Amino acid sequence: MSRTSDVIVVGAGHNGLTCAAYLAEAGLEVVVLEARSFIGGNTATEELTLPGWRHDSCSSAHVVIQSNPLISRDELGLLERYGLEYIVSDPAVVFPNAGEDSLVFHPDLERTRERVARYSPSDATALVEMVSEWEEGLRTVHAYVQSGLPASDDEWARRYEELRRRSAREVIEEKFTHPVVRRAITWLAFATIQSPIRPGTGVLPASIVTGRIRFGWTTPRGGSEALPRALERHLVDHGGEVVLDASVAQYLREGDRCVGVRTVDGREFFARRAVVAGSHLRRLADQMDEPSADLLRAKETWRPGLSVFAVHFALREHPTYRVDGEWRPAVAAGLGSPEGLHTQVAAAERGEVDLTSPWLLMVDSTVVDPSRAPGAAYKFLTIAPERVDGHEWTASDAEHYADQLVEFARPHVRGLEEENILARVVESPTSLAAHSPANLGGSCHGGEFHDEGQILPGWLSPRAGVAGLYLTGSTSHPGGSVSGRPGRNAARAVLEDLGPGGREVMARP
Ligand SMILES: Cc1cc2nc3c(=O)[nH]c(=O)nc-3n(C[C@H](O)[C@H](O)[C@H](O)COP(=O)(O)OP(=O)(O)OC[C@H]3O[C@@H](n4cnc5c(N)ncnc54)[C@H](O)[C@@H]3O)c2cc1C
Repeated sequence: MSRTSDVIVVGAGHNGLTCAAYLAEAGLEVVVLEARSFIGGNTATEELTLPGWRHDSCSSAHVVIQSNPLISRDELGLLERYGLEYIVSDPAVVFPNAGEDSLVFHPDLERTRERVARYSPSDATALVEMVSEWEEGLRTVHAYVQSGLPASDDEWARRYEELRRRSAREVIEEKFTHPVVRRAITWLAFATIQSPIRPGTGVLPASIVTGRIRFGWTTPRGGSEALPRALERHLVDHGGEVVLDASVAQYLREGDRCVGVRTVDGREFFARRAVVAGSHLRRLADQMDEPSADLLRAKETWRPGLSVFAVHFALREHPTYRVDGEWRPAVAAGLGSPEGLHTQVAAAERGEVDLTSPWLLMVDSTVVDPSRAPGAAYKFLTIAPERVDGHEWTASDAEHYADQLVEFARPHVRGLEEENILARVVESPTSLAAHSPANLGGSCHGGEFHDEGQILPGWLSPRAGVAGLYLTGSTSHPGGSVSGRPGRNAARAVLEDLGPGGREVMARP
């Protein structure tokens, strides 16, 4: 069996679907091939614990994508016409403080400044300065960088590059002094799971903190899958199609050009104009004859980076944190000290877990979206080594680590008592990797490329070095997270190469 369309996109994660939707909007006939029996990849929502409890199996926060014109300008009408709705949570995040009130970040600069000033007036001023500098000029440079477009050569671009080259830790230690404030900013700066001691992470404190202050813990109504569902509706409305259970094994070439793909069960799909690979870049060189030098280099230089570990709970009641002397629920809460995070990252790099004071995200989307479950669909997220003590994670290793995380969190959270926990499902790097061909090494953010002393979170060019073949997904620029950037970047590259350019369907940057 074979089939021909203008464009084939491999992978129905939110990036593949974003790319497909832009290309369909531009008038191309697009077919998306997805290995699994459902769309969304790491933006899926599933009944993981009990019937009627809909959990985000991976991502929950759609904060990063709020700055993408896909959402900020609603370029494809996902918000206006295709049913996507975002809830801005308030608080944005709470940072429990054993026995005392939590430090609270709101989706509002002045209210967050007041909270921080209770600990340190000078840190409150530093926060306002950091956010203002970002809003004034760095944000625009960041948007160009994320889009893979050259930013204008001005003072802001120089300032951005200077900041980017530093490490998040260095920037935080220079600006903030109070341990509670440092803890909160360090925790936030790690939200995209990149080591804060690594040079190249210097913009993360400003970009992530500002994102939370502008958009809260942005939660899609109905679950993370609301985004891929809206993209699919747009695609189908524009004549496109998603084919499920179509795992691509081979990219097909005719001479110099990539012309189609073959699935593991032997079906062939051909593309008149372009093939977009949203599958894992580490695998691409092995999936085609005569791969380009770029694809071979990508294969050699890819590493999983920091892998993740998740625990999903079905809880009777919402967990609560101490805020202003009362115990209140919150969509997102963060635990762990900067020193704890540094030892945890170092241990993960050695293949060990460290529980001194680990970085721990606790998410309860049901606080703002109660339709998802009859109680609280709650999640822990932290990092873990890809292999623990030299072997793959077994179910009992994972349960043991989950127990230790619960013990660590209990002094700070009400609602983790055994009688409130109805069910629990634990996901280790090993099980996450088994669920999706995109989660190689259990890394949730596409991993990273080690290139001449630099670590790149995503491969820089959306062009694969083979005519007709383009790259999207979390292994392409600017890497993992629900940002939609790799999807939009790939669509721009395809449209530029086809002639009419992307301007009709997307703004710059
Ligand atoms: C536990 C966890 C929690 C996370 N939390 C957050 C969060 O709160 N906020 C945030 O911004 N990010 C979060 N992330 C990261 C984020 O979910 C991902 O970076 C993002 O969803 C990647 O999207 P994508 O479209 O690039 O790839 P994916 O969502 O991984 O989609 C790729 C798709 O391609 C398919 N595919 C792969 N190979 C083939 C093939 N050969 N043939 C056909 N199909 C193929 C896969 O089946 C998959 O459906 C989290 C990740 C994990 C694992």
